[in-house]
Amino acid sequence: MRRPFIAGNWKMHKTVAEATELASGLKEALASVKDIELAVCPTATALGAVTQVLADSNIGAGAQNMHWEASGAFTGEIAPAMVKELATYVIIGHSERRQFFGETDETVNKKLLAAIAQGLIPIVCIGESLAQNEAGETVAFVGGQIRGAFAGVPKEDARNVVLAYEPIWAIGTGRTAMPEDADRIIREAIRDVLTDLYDDATAQAIRVQYGGSVKPDNMADFIIMPEIDGALVGGASLTVEAFAGIVNSAIKALGNG
Ligand code: PEP
Repeated sequence: MRRPFIAGNWKMHKTVAEATELASGLKEALASVKDIELAVCPTATALGAVTQVLADSNIGAGAQNMHWEASGAFTGEIAPAMVKELATYVIIGHSERRQFFGETDETVNKKLLAAIAQGLIPIVCIGESLAQNEAGETVAFVGGQIRGAFAGVPKEDARNVVLAYEPIWAIGTGRTAMPEDADRIIREAIRDVLTDLYDDATAQAIRVQYGGSVKPDNMADFIIMPEIDGALVGGASLTVEAFAGIVNSAIKALGNG
């Protein structure tokens, strides 16, 4: 059984004061949640403060990015050990990083290997563009992203990686994938490829979140899908009401807490 996991990606929103307030509200609102793993990923500037607020809570903290090198002349970057001081999770290869900051399958792979070596739980994002989707290239493209990301990752480490399948055209647009389509793509482009790379047991152990305009009123449709193990949430993770609403609809749909 894969433990459901819902994470919020706060992107470039919230000052330290605002992030602290949101984290306190979530800590209170979600205190009774037991069977769903929860995390929020603030900006790097707010990560330390949010981690302090969430200490002794059931919500973990994650970074939105990191560099793969241990240290060096990389102005503006954050090393794995620096993330590890403040966080449990790290998002790797978000489509906005791929689109605006030149990340490739190769840099995603380097970051994934570095995150594993540092003992962080990586949330690796993959997903196709609208053009690729319309051209029927999704399974081949996402499968390629998976092969690229996992190059050189040993089987025993692969099972602890979290994946977020996020069709780019669904991120921040209010338009979601059809839950059945997302489920099929996760099966064909992710689990089948992971079975090929490792084995069926490993492929079945890896958690895959759906991401792309998840809201309180559509979370249930995704979480009930057999291949979908939770969500990576952007816009709707920025208020207590919306994020707690998403978590509560997942609990209701799964029939647990
Ligand atoms: C994301 O940033 O990963 C995301 C899925 O954003 P949104 O929920 O706003 O579509």
